[in-house]
Amino acid sequence: MSKFTSLSQQASFFVSVTDWRDLPPEDGAEIAFAGRSNVGKSSAINALTRRRSLAYVAKTPGRTRQINFFRLDDNGYLVDLPGYGYAKVPEAISRRWELLLSKYLQTRISLIGLVLVLDARHPLTPLDQQMLDWFAPTGKPVLILLSKADKLTRQQANRTLRKVNDLLAQFYPCSTAQLFSSATHTGLVKAEEVLAQWLKR
Ligand code: GDP
Repeated sequence: MSKFTSLSQQASFFVSVTDWRDLPPEDGAEIAFAGRSNVGKSSAINALTRRRSLAYVAKTPGRTRQINFFRLDDNGYLVDLPGYGYAKVPEAISRRWELLLSKYLQTRISLIGLVLVLDARHPLTPLDQQMLDWFAPTGKPVLILLSKADKLTRQQANRTLRKVNDLLAQFYPCSTAQLFSSATHTGLVKAEEVLAQWLKR
């Protein structure tokens, strides 16, 4: 099975950075996680690494936002990007983070793929599409997790998935979406398999 299914011992906090100059050397494949604040990104990282609090430990609401690197076995990293769309962030800080995020997504060579976590109830907001617009020109793959899928009926969830996948096929052909829930583990194994495939390349 994929190495992602037994990641619990292998994912550990590596470093937090707030500035481009402090990014670690590009010495391993990086998979970045992005998403609006509160969408379930930390929960998704914890579920995928089978660690109950890995991504929460590094989370500092109201304090300086950071890019958190979690080291995997085999020189890989999961990179937790700061949640966006939090209304209370002052314009100047929000602008600074936008620049850092866009630069990271557009130019980081060791970045091999992006996991974009969306709320299945409000998928593809303009800010989510902004992320895709920055990253899509790299031609690298994007996995969209339609998170909190447990809050929808099966019918609603499947309808949302179809809609999102139709849109992706049209505008972002390197992206695929799947349903996901950290609460019920819907889609967990499927997501692990995709990430393991990326790391194997
Ligand atoms: P982040 O800000 O994107 O990192 O979001 P968190 O992972 O901290 O989650 C925000 C809130 O949503 C928390 O109260 C979580 O318990 C809840 N949450 C996260 N994932 C799920 C999920 O799959 N289902 C449900 N029902 N709640 C979730």
